[in-house]
Amino acid sequence: MPTIAILPGDGIGPEVTDQAVRVIEKLNELFDAQFEVQTQPVGGTAYEMHDHPLPDSTLSLAKSADAILLGAVGGPQWEKVDRQLRPEKALLGLRSELDLFSNLRPAMLFPELADASTLKPEVVSGLDIMIVRELTGGIYFGGPRAIEGEAGSRKGYNTMVYTEAEIARIARSAFEMAMQRDKRLCSVDKANVLEVSELWREVVTEVGNSYPEVELSHMYIDNACMQLVRAPKQFDVIVTTNMFGDILSDAASMLTGSIGMLPSASLDSNGKGMYEPVHGSAPDIAGEGKANPLATILSVAMMMRSTFGNEEFAAAIEAAVKQTLADGLRTGDIAREGEATVSTEAMGDAVVDRM
Ligand code: NAD
Repeated sequence: MPTIAILPGDGIGPEVTDQAVRVIEKLNELFDAQFEVQTQPVGGTAYEMHDHPLPDSTLSLAKSADAILLGAVGGPQWEKVDRQLRPEKALLGLRSELDLFSNLRPAMLFPELADASTLKPEVVSGLDIMIVRELTGGIYFGGPRAIEGEAGSRKGYNTMVYTEAEIARIARSAFEMAMQRDKRLCSVDKANVLEVSELWREVVTEVGNSYPEVELSHMYIDNACMQLVRAPKQFDVIVTTNMFGDILSDAASMLTGSIGMLPSASLDSNGKGMYEPVHGSAPDIAGEGKANPLATILSVAMMMRSTFGNEEFAAAIEAAVKQTLADGLRTGDIAREGEATVSTEAMGDAVVDRM
């Protein structure tokens, strides 16, 4: 029986994961899917209970489960906690312990929500791009790194480093993704300035020889940022390094104008993954029943497709979300001025009813 670890976390995390669990239960009912869900605390909530944001019991469930669904972590009450014990450390711990090197961040805009974007509706309506970001290497982890020297003449430095093996595995992940989509992959680097990018480009091109059906292009990061706001629909799949992906994926998510709608996945080399909404714990609305659960529900759809290889389940969830939006149901974050809004639970009800 496939097990899904549910790590609700903090703030609105439990509210949105509750609705996603109802969607998983609905899959069990409709398709006799037999998913078993098991829940453990993570982040600040876990710190309160076990003095650690990623207790052993949570990590061992994450390791033994077939897939993980995470809500969100963090909140103002833990900002003064020792850096090593902050809620966000749980995310880094899960990524490194489970070797989740491939971060998938789709930016898609349901046509019903085109006017939520700050860009013109015709530029973004129907947008559907996938950013594949390398998540466990590059400048965020590379050494040497330090701030050193005497006050007044200190220097700070980091190292952007990638091995051929690290580049090849993220490239394969991106080509595989492109094969499931429109078969176009754009690799983003800074090969005109950085040696590490020169190697990146070489290795991505080599990996591409095994995927002759995928049209591979290369773009410098500065141009990619420009193109992403000028004509975002030119992209299908983008693959890039940890830091460039961090920046590009946030910019891409803002194109859609509604952070409460965006799912994400972080995968290991066997397709096991941790799925989570892109948004944080939204302490400003936590406990008020105002959170949009659709990003978390769409994360379950990604899980069905990427970890369980089940297109039918993924499509059933996505179609229900689409119908919910078409029927005019809106949480506050995606409602137009003066439009009626529904609660987190009512949004969950609507999706489950339409599955
Ligand atoms: P946030 O994403 O939590 O909130 C930003 C804004 O978007 C807020 O106004 C919030 O109300 C709104 N929002 C977010 N998700 C929403 C949803 N589902 N429905 C409706 N509105 C939603 O970002 P923040 O305010 O910068 O961070 C709050 C906390 O979350 C911090 O502690 C931060 O460290 C943490 N955080 C965690 C993650 C994660 O767990 N992956 C990611 C980002 C931020």
